[in-house]
Amino acid sequence: MKSRNKNNRPHYVIVGNSIAGIAAIEAIRERDRERAILVIDREMREAYSRPLISYYLEGRVDEETMRLRPAEFYKKMKVRVLAGRNVTALKARERLLITDNNERMPYEKLLLAVGAEPVMPSIPGLVGPQVCTFAHLKDANELKKRVKRGQGAVVIGSGFIGIKASEGLKALGAKVTMVELDNRPVPSMLDAEAGKIVAAHIRRSGVKLVLSNRVVAIRRKGASVVAAALKSGEEIPCSSVVVAIGVRPRLGLCRGTPIKTKMGILVNSHMETSVHNIYAAGDVTETAVLHGGRKNIPIWPLAYEQGTVAGTNMAGGNMAYKGRMPMNSMEVFGLPLIALGDTTTDDGEMEIMMLRSRTSSAYKKIILKNNRIRGALFLGEIERAGIFAGLMLDTVDVTPFKEELLKENFGYIYVPRQHRAKHISPLEV
Ligand SMILES: Cc1cc2nc3c(=O)[nH]c(=O)nc-3n(C[C@H](O)[C@H](O)[C@H](O)COP(=O)(O)OP(=O)(O)OC[C@H]3O[C@@H](n4cnc5c(N)ncnc54)[C@H](O)[C@@H]3O)c2cc1C
Repeated sequence: MKSRNKNNRPHYVIVGNSIAGIAAIEAIRERDRERAILVIDREMREAYSRPLISYYLEGRVDEETMRLRPAEFYKKMKVRVLAGRNVTALKARERLLITDNNERMPYEKLLLAVGAEPVMPSIPGLVGPQVCTFAHLKDANELKKRVKRGQGAVVIGSGFIGIKASEGLKALGAKVTMVELDNRPVPSMLDAEAGKIVAAHIRRSGVKLVLSNRVVAIRRKGASVVAAALKSGEEIPCSSVVVAIGVRPRLGLCRGTPIKTKMGILVNSHMETSVHNIYAAGDVTETAVLHGGRKNIPIWPLAYEQGTVAGTNMAGGNMAYKGRMPMNSMEVFGLPLIALGDTTTDDGEMEIMMLRSRTSSAYKKIILKNNRIRGALFLGEIERAGIFAGLMLDTVDVTPFKEELLKENFGYIYVPRQHRAKHISPLEV
């Protein structure tokens, strides 16, 4: 088998066996069926879907359903997997990785698909048992084992992950309190008005939501967690704490190497870093954003797309990553929410259109700049969000139908024919 070259160097080495890494494997094998691929990951198990962790905690899916690819995937793709092995150093000049058991792993082409890690605040009493993040299957397994009906659980942070953790804990029967520094939940996506609607919905779902406050200490009796102390002086009795204040790209392996980083690893449109033959994809990167600029956007579809672009180019192809807009879709205790582009900033040149239902939790906000949609937020009624995503991607001038944008029946019928033709079937145009 032509699996290794004459220096016994596997041709492709991928650090990170998750969605960006898997997409890269599939793209490499589209073009190169032979040269060896080695995948290294510190987790002991095969790749699984992180977005399903909260469903797993709720008991709605099992580990088998969470598998990203069938068990025979790696064999079929002729990939060697080193699971449970942490890469601790990268020697870019020698094209060498070093693992936690001091093994030296040479490579010809390297993909860093190492994702992002949860941010841990410095809070007295936080480090120790009964405190975890919500990023891995092992976090969900730990909570499943430990949390009993009626026990208190405090979630620090009410962003996307904090909400998912709270939903899972609530389903286990815990008395959940979510503590948020900002004055509204999911502050990166929601404005003040949407924040009020979502906060009321969370509270109606039986979760205590504490806003404009912070956890200043975790109280322990011996080693056991007994309460979370808040800045306001309140103490919330609990036996579990989940930290969910955000994630940041894992840049540790780049330190001391010539790989350029800012918020994330900087890559060109081929997903190649500043070092030739070292690529990066997924949550660890800082990439081009539609409408200009660069950003770290830690979401699943982009990790998949970037992995595909990186794998294609590593195997000699020519595929460009075009830059995407931040986009997120989630349910907050059953209330659907879609955020497209930037939904919270206003540079003074933005025109903002809003509509709030008097009878339901529905809320719609459209952000325009020079009559082009730059952001959109949908709460409760999300069915037509796809049309807005299309208008944003194509930077369509909405002047002729601006008045219609907030109407309940707004649809493709209002938009220019050439745009419609791109997005729906010719019969419908
Ligand atoms: C609870 C939760 C819910 C989410 N829900 C959504 C959602 O609904 N929609 C959405 O778009 N996104 C969601 N996300 C985000 C999504 O999961 C990520 O965008 C995606 O997993 C990123 O994929 P990745 O391959 O870049 O990195 P990751 O999935 O983070 O994988 C990185 C891998 O690298 C390994 N690794 C890291 N460093 C090393 C090292 N030094 N040595 C060896 N191995 C290493 C890690 O063990 C890990 O397996 C959610 C995330 C979480 C945690």
